[in-house]
Amino acid sequence: MGIPRNNFYAQWRAQNQTRLFLREPDEPQPSERLVQGIWHHQRIVRDKLRTLDGRAVRILHPGFWNHASGPDFRSAVIQFEGEAAKSGDIEVDLVPAGWHGHGHDRNAAFKNVILHVVWNKPERSTRMDTLALEPFLDAPFNEIQSAIGGETGHSWPDEWRGKCCAPLSELPSERVVELLQQAAWIRLQRKAGELEARARQAGWEQALWEGLFRALGYKQNVWPMQRLAEILPVTAERQSSAVTLQARFLGSGGLLPDDVTDAPASATYLRNLWDIWWREREKFSDIALPPTLWRFHGLRPANQPQRRLALAAHWVAAPKFLQRLEKWFVEDDADVSEIDSLLECLQPDCDEFWSWHWSLRSPRLSKPQPLLGASRVTDLAINVILPWFWIRAHAGKNQKLEALAEKRYFNWPAAQDNSVLKLARQRLLAGRTLRGMTTAASQQGLLQVVRDFCEHSDAVCTNCLFPDLVRGWTQQK
Ligand code: SF4
Repeated sequence: MGIPRNNFYAQWRAQNQTRLFLREPDEPQPSERLVQGIWHHQRIVRDKLRTLDGRAVRILHPGFWNHASGPDFRSAVIQFEGEAAKSGDIEVDLVPAGWHGHGHDRNAAFKNVILHVVWNKPERSTRMDTLALEPFLDAPFNEIQSAIGGETGHSWPDEWRGKCCAPLSELPSERVVELLQQAAWIRLQRKAGELEARARQAGWEQALWEGLFRALGYKQNVWPMQRLAEILPVTAERQSSAVTLQARFLGSGGLLPDDVTDAPASATYLRNLWDIWWREREKFSDIALPPTLWRFHGLRPANQPQRRLALAAHWVAAPKFLQRLEKWFVEDDADVSEIDSLLECLQPDCDEFWSWHWSLRSPRLSKPQPLLGASRVTDLAINVILPWFWIRAHAGKNQKLEALAEKRYFNWPAAQDNSVLKLARQRLLAGRTLRGMTTAASQQGLLQVVRDFCEHSDAVCTNCLFPDLVRGWTQQK
């Protein structure tokens, strides 16, 4: 892919990953942490999975990465062929023998494990339901390792300033910004690589839909949204209206309340949806998701999945959605801000219910509210839309469009800091916002440093290579 040859950050990252993830040369296997990363990101061909005993299995949610003791992933939801979906934990080991070898079979904390995920196939059979990941990778191993090698999902206490803070503070602002831009390249490449891997399986358009749905799921509901996008070819027949699609998305997502009297403000709307869903539910019963898959805790009403699915229904129902998006991408109008022009492209017309209610239980608003806001537009652009245009242009060898996607990506205005960015700014930059750090790409670069370095160290920066790399780079220049 098109990372510039002189990207020094890519070389730093490679040094770090080689140290962290490769085992001894005579053991050509990934580390267990990398296998966990592959599972966490689902870098596998999800619609072809079979356990070691040949049963098809669907991963409806891979679970939440558990960094404490006990199984590696909590509260996953999976469905074996011909069975109802079930929820439980996932344990990751390199080989099936790890289950007995690590004493999990005798440990009560592992009694809710429903799937043992391993790297490759055993020589002898095993009694656990076991899935080997190696045969199902969605891209060559090196590509996946490079893309996700830096992620572990640890969180950090915020009272510590990082050891890299001193060498970074000695650099002029523009050099720090240059460093972050180079790190942002890696992030663009990673996101684009995931979209390309999926496009190889399902086509460019389907890969885009899955990216958009995932982005609408926020952190809490990425996986059910991904699953609803995966079944779009079945649920979203051509020329379906937005309300029909809302009925199908909410119905197949398990999000249609049974009791319409329970939510008086939405009773008429829900009755309309049920009128549609009653006729169709049988057809989709095999692919319907259990309602327990969704997370609502801590979500503002405006971010609830039903509202996000209502927006997605408008996009899918629009006959020329993709053409409109392509037109937005190539028409670089200097008079309108990037955010406003994309917002205009993605904002649906007024929705009879959702423009007037934040959620199914909210009272009617005094004035209509848009289904999409500016911060979500930046998230969609940086994480899905621009990486998708970039990698599609790259794959099609269209250098002009590739350059346009890069320009738009690196010029996109910064979004509000999230908690990870706030912490990174404190630890790496002593809370400073440097001149020139006004783009979303500089935020992406900061996030990439956190993932590549901070998340492999600890609160006191033990064994982190980053400070020395920054010092060495400073001396070179
Ligand atoms: S772990 Fe490394 S990159 Fe992170 S704050 Fe510490 S020194 Fe900086």
